[in-house]
Amino acid sequence: MAMLEVENLCAGYENGYVINEIEFSLHRGEFISILGPNGSGKSTLLKALQGLLTNASGEITMEGQKLLTLSPREIAKKIAYVPQIFPLSFEFDVQEIIMMGRYIHQGRFGGITREDRKIIQEVMELTKISHLKDKKIAHLSGGESQRVFIARALAQDTPVLFLDEPSSHLDISYQIEIYHILRDLQQEKGKTVLSTEHNLNLAIPYSQNIMFLKEGKIHSQGPPEKLVTKQTIREVFDAEVDIRKNLHTHKPEISLILHSANKK
Ligand code: ADP
Ligand code: MG
Repeated sequence: MAMLEVENLCAGYENGYVINEIEFSLHRGEFISILGPNGSGKSTLLKALQGLLTNASGEITMEGQKLLTLSPREIAKKIAYVPQIFPLSFEFDVQEIIMMGRYIHQGRFGGITREDRKIIQEVMELTKISHLKDKKIAHLSGGESQRVFIARALAQDTPVLFLDEPSSHLDISYQIEIYHILRDLQQEKGKTVLSTEHNLNLAIPYSQNIMFLKEGKIHSQGPPEKLVTKQTIREVFDAEVDIRKNLHTHKPEISLILHSANKK
């Protein structure tokens, strides 16, 4: 049974749908990246898949249950979400933000348990933010906040992780670090990852499947080895690139063709 089965999903905001006729399945333990130009609907799709948008139609089934019959708490037990734009939480320190990931596991009278503390400790070590634990979130750099919100999602300890451009704000070493963490979670703990990413070369080696979105619709989906071609990149991004095979990962890699801007 698929972790998530999506049929004819259309969703958007008050002024109408911005994603249309989305169909795909996400299987347990799979890593899928959603790729597409700015404004193509990547963030909207991630929100719609958690039932966060009221203007939506179609069918989302999670492990055989209709998503919209589940309460937000039940959904949060299955899916942890790292948004592209972080919620305003200036008054909180790093530990408090990460603790929010544990709330859904607490019983009715529950406070923080020893198990909660252990998990919070572990995810801070994993994302290398232990030294920031008492700092206010408002006082952190973009990259540090990014790691805090990733840590919060990991603390939620769900079978599924949604990440909206997790590499934004991060320098190259943390970009690789975060993707390594995600891959370890996927391969060793069987977590399912659905992620959007603007850096194609970063997403490709980690993803079993990718989905290209264009103007709110799926342009194509499948394994990157098949999908990433000059033609596809031209159609989806309106960009001229070269594709090579990366010597280490053996996956396709996009290289830029430089030309002067006014030549186009
Ligand atoms: P992406 O993540 O691929 O850059 P988005 O999903 O953020 O794209 O946006 C897709 C489209 O939806 C854009 O045209 C954007 O302007 C519109 N949009 C995004 N958020 C809102 C909102 N809260 N209200 C109305 N329109 C929105
Ligand atoms: Mg986005």
